[in-house]
Amino acid sequence: MTLTDAATIPTARTIRTALPGPRSLELQARRTSAVASGVSKGFPVFIERAAGAIVVDVDGNALLDLGSGIAVTSIGHAVPEVTDAIVDQAGRFVHTCFMVTPYESYVAVCEALNERAPVEGPARSALFNSGAEAVENAVKIARHATGKAGVAVFDHAYHGRTNLTMALTAKSMPYKHGFGPFAPEVYRVPMSYPYRDGLSGPEAAARAISVLESQIGATNLAAVLIEPIQGEGGFIVPAPGFLGALAAWCRANDVVFIADEIQSGFCRTGDWFALNAEGVTADLVTTAKGIAGGMPLAAVTGRAALMEAVHEGGLGGTYGGNPVAAAAAVASIAYMAEHDLAGRARHIGAQLLSTLSGLADELQGIGEVRGRGAMVAIELVEPGTTTPMPNAAKAVAQACNAEGVLVLTCGTYGNVLRLLPPLVITDEQLADGLGVLSGALRKVLG
Ligand SMILES: *Cc1c(COP(=O)(O)O)cnc(C)c1O
Repeated sequence: MTLTDAATIPTARTIRTALPGPRSLELQARRTSAVASGVSKGFPVFIERAAGAIVVDVDGNALLDLGSGIAVTSIGHAVPEVTDAIVDQAGRFVHTCFMVTPYESYVAVCEALNERAPVEGPARSALFNSGAEAVENAVKIARHATGKAGVAVFDHAYHGRTNLTMALTAKSMPYKHGFGPFAPEVYRVPMSYPYRDGLSGPEAAARAISVLESQIGATNLAAVLIEPIQGEGGFIVPAPGFLGALAAWCRANDVVFIADEIQSGFCRTGDWFALNAEGVTADLVTTAKGIAGGMPLAAVTGRAALMEAVHEGGLGGTYGGNPVAAAAAVASIAYMAEHDLAGRARHIGAQLLSTLSGLADELQGIGEVRGRGAMVAIELVEPGTTTPMPNAAKAVAQACNAEGVLVLTCGTYGNVLRLLPPLVITDEQLADGLGVLSGALRKVLG
């Protein structure tokens, strides 16, 4: 088998066994005796190979991936250009530690991020291993630059699982439950959630700003940290004007505006960044998931003056910007630009929204279909109310998975189905996935 081996992988979903199949069940038994049970189980089909939007399991089933490993493989699985870059780099060296002896690919990733990030003026970047680590470093930079401590975050926010980022994350179960005490100086303010609050962007911003001013005070606040479209919290798209008003308030009050674009960034929403749609800029932007074609890599990109405020040695880490991950990122970003994956995301979004809006008209229980580009969600509620139906969301996802279409859920109330297909998914594959999803929704809600 060659390294990428894409030619041996079918381009259509092909199911040969019950899912999970016998080999997967054997491996699942081994997993149960070897792996800590606190690690989420998801759908226990064990994957052997993958290409594009198809993952092949150990029983030879070809499944359709509508989750991209949580918005990571936006460029698709096993892209030959990226695999070649990984193999080439691995053959030369896999680690020096950039802080000890540098290499070009780290610099190239920073250049690519600086060029694209929605940040005014010259930018600088620093690379890390995971999204949570990038968020922690953004907070470090904001505190250092302002000399203030407070960090404001939003209802429904998700920023990671380390101690500080657990504090920044809203949802208790499963992310925070039993894991305290949490880091101090974190304040939660109301998000704009148009489906549930009915407020315009300016109204929701006024509500949030009133909490910022009355309960924290700008003089105590280092940063306002927000996902421009919330991910784990339920793909909540704030009403137009909300983000711009918050950014303007931050600018007027010496508060660092941090956009966590770890899930929404990198072509996912039809632009390089979700902030682009409203022309809003941030002081600092965090990225991770989609930037390196599946390799673990994360970054903070920000206004040069802010980024340069930190003393030498204050930022870094042993593995941050690892050469193999950096090589993958350089190749992935080039691939995204060359194949206009932002345009592809808009095309996918149009297909998803038209099919799903039709279903929302037809079926009781779809409270809202929302999203932007290839980041689309379906919020399920008791018919005629806004009461969340988490069990229905779970049942729909399970029905899709059982037919070999990988669909994820999310949301503070667990009642949201989320679609994050690889941006290289073909129209045929997307139609197939939507057919299975529509069938599952009809079965569960009908
Ligand atoms: C996934 C995610 C994180 C955490 O990233 P990890 O790589 O899992 O640490 C932070 N913020 C957002 C918006 C995310 O979606």
